[in-house]
This record gives sequence, structure tokens and C-alpha cells, in this order.
Amino acid sequence: MKNRLSHRLKNISYSQTIAMSAKARDLKNKGYDIINLSLGEPDFLPPDFVLYAAKKAIDEGYHYYTPVSGYLELRKVICQKLYRDNHLKYTPSQIVVSTGAKQAIMNVLLSLLNKNDEVIIPAPYWVSYLQMVKLCESYPVVVPTTMNNNFKINPEQLEKAITSKTKLFIFSTPCNPTGSVYSYEELKYLAEIFKKYPEIMIISDEIYEHICYSDKHTSIAIFSDIHNQVITLNGLSKAFSMTGWRIGYIGAPEWIAKSCDKIQGQMTSCSNSIAQRAAIAALKADPSKIEYMIQEFRKRRNLVLSMITEINGFQLNKPNGAFYVFPKISYFFGKKLDGKMIKNADDFSEFLLEKTQVATVSGSAFGDHECLRISYASSEDKIIEAFKRIKKALN
Ligand code: PMP
Ligand code: GLU
Repeated sequence: MKNRLSHRLKNISYSQTIAMSAKARDLKNKGYDIINLSLGEPDFLPPDFVLYAAKKAIDEGYHYYTPVSGYLELRKVICQKLYRDNHLKYTPSQIVVSTGAKQAIMNVLLSLLNKNDEVIIPAPYWVSYLQMVKLCESYPVVVPTTMNNNFKINPEQLEKAITSKTKLFIFSTPCNPTGSVYSYEELKYLAEIFKKYPEIMIISDEIYEHICYSDKHTSIAIFSDIHNQVITLNGLSKAFSMTGWRIGYIGAPEWIAKSCDKIQGQMTSCSNSIAQRAAIAALKADPSKIEYMIQEFRKRRNLVLSMITEINGFQLNKPNGAFYVFPKISYFFGKKLDGKMIKNADDFSEFLLEKTQVATVSGSAFGDHECLRISYASSEDKIIEAFKRIKKALN
């Protein structure tokens, strides 16, 4: 039968992070001893006080549709959080709570983008940005960055990419997949460029804000000249280990928040009521309550950094945030491993899965064909075993 899918859909691909993790799960179910370092999913339980709040919400009868943008109480707590942690002033009418940061991004893109508008995305980028932009029939303008510059875009590169069609810029800090964290100064210089182009909006994806190991996280919206151009995006998946609870949110100019509310009202009505009650407890809590997870990630990062140096052919910069390493593995291209020619990062990731049963994600998913993403959101034991296997297979 003739393929009747929309053109829009034909142009986009499956999420490679989710595909790799599904493959790993499938192999595990078939009895293979798989170590899954592909997905960015913390292995902790959500904090006790969050679990308690969710159970209480069930007992207290929070079973019904909530306001489209989220309970007012939650939006007030988000405003307090954004002020406490990020020094940003928002009012509840500027906040929209969504089904994960993913839906929050899609709401903003659908609010802003017309066919053929351009969206600047520094690469390496988080896997879904590019596909979401394409889903809106807009045009991703990918700006490659280099390991020498810690995979960060500089003001000259940014300005060069701007055209009369540029509508939006989207980036994450700390960055998935590179772990890079933009400093206050670096963001200030980018902000100076955006100030010259007040019609360009910025999505600042700060979902890893608490997972920072040296530089403190800065929100680009603190620069008052461009505050009204910024959509500050965040969520509970990473910092509170609540990936399945699906809570994300934005703080944005009111006209954007209103538009996201309109879209969401037609698409999902609201995000989950119990998860929203739990989010109130999570975001009210002082960040020191989740420090134990950050310390654990720091230990794991240091462990990964020390083990990776023992593997020939991996080139790495020091990631200062999130829970990924993103080594360059192009040394292996054109070489045969176990009789199999490695042409690119996809082949290399495939080789690791077959030979060592360690699942990773090819850098091609993130717009960098020479690298490999390894998530260390897994237990120390698993990380040690994974690197032992990789070292044995490659050295
Ligand atoms: N942004 C980044 C940078 C991410 O890594 C993720 C991963 N889940 C998301 C957004 C989406 O998060 P959520 O689970 O809240 O949809
Ligand atoms: N954000 C995580 C990752 O990059 C989860 C998977 C996804 O949402 O794509 O692995």
C-alpha cells in the first residue's frame, strides 16, 4: 500500500537514545548480560519526601484535571524556585507545567515556528531538538563546535549563523551530550549578540542545572537586556530522578506562556495531577536535599575519567556537568575491530554492543559523527565492569 504518512513525519527519525535503550532492554530480556550506558536516566529512587507527597496526594483526592498550565500552588513554587536558585523573577502567569521538558519544548516550538523559519542549534545538541524543529517544518541551522572550545558556541559563530529568517536559538547548559557548562562570562557575551537581535527567542534548557561539578550554573535569562527573549526550561527528570513522572516547565514571557497553555489545552489538557503535587514538594525543598545524588554523580564522573584514560584511542575533555562523557573515537575509523571495519561512530557503538554488551549512543544522534556518548547515570559496579570490558576489547 502506498505510504500515506504525512511529509512532516517522513522527514523525522526515531529518537536514537530511546531506540538504543530499547535495543539494550530487548537483548537483556533475551538473556544477554547487557550494561546499559545509553540512556540519560538516573538510577536513584526519587527522594522520600517526594514519594510521600505523591502518596498523600492520592489519599487527599487529587484525581482530576488540573488547570491547563498546572496547579497555581505549583506555579507559585516554581516562581520561588526560579528566584531562589536562578535569581529570575517570574509570576505564575508566566509559568507552564507540561508532561516532561519534552512537551514544554514542543509547545514553545509550535508557538513560535512557521514553515521555513530557521532555528540555530549548536552541535553537539540534545537528540530531540533537531527532530522537533523538523516536525514544525522549520529549518535547523546546526553550528558545529569543537572539543578544543569545550564544545561551546562563541559569539562570532552565533552572529555568523543569524539570518533574517532566524526565529530561535536552542541550547542546553549543562549540556547533554557533552557535559559542558557555560560560564557567566560566556553567556554574557552571547547575550550581547542576542541584544542586537531582539526578535530572536532563546530556549535555555537547564534540566541539568543542579548537576554541576565546578562552575556554578548560570541562567541566560539573568541578563536583563534579553530577559524577555528567553524561555527558561527545566524539569524534574534528572535532578530528582523522576523520569517517568513526566514533569517539565517553562518560565517565559507571558505571550509565550499563554500560547503554550492554548496548545496544551488542546493536546493533553494538563500534566499528571499526582506528579504535580509531588513536584510541589520537590521544588519547595532546598537543593541541599538532593546533594547526595550530585556527589554520587561526581564520584562516578571521576571514576569514568580515570578509567577512560586507560583506553587507547579515546580522546576526552573534562565534562563539568550532567552525567555524560563524550569522547572522540575517530581514531578507530578505517580500522578493523574483530574483523569488522569501523567506518563511523554508529559502527563503533554497534561494535561495543556486540563485542562487550555495553550499550552507548553514537555521536551522530547529537550531530557529532566522531564521538560517542556514554552515560554514567548507572551504579559504580556497572560502570567499572563496562569499562573493563571496553578496555579488554580495544587495547
Ligand atoms: N532536555 C535535555 C537536555 C534532556 O537531556 C532531556 C532528557 N530527558 C530532556 C530535555 C527531556 O526531559 P523530560 O524527561 O523532562 O522530557
Ligand atoms: N534525555 C535522556 C537522554 O538523552 C533520555 C532519553 C530521551 O529523552 O531522549 O538519554
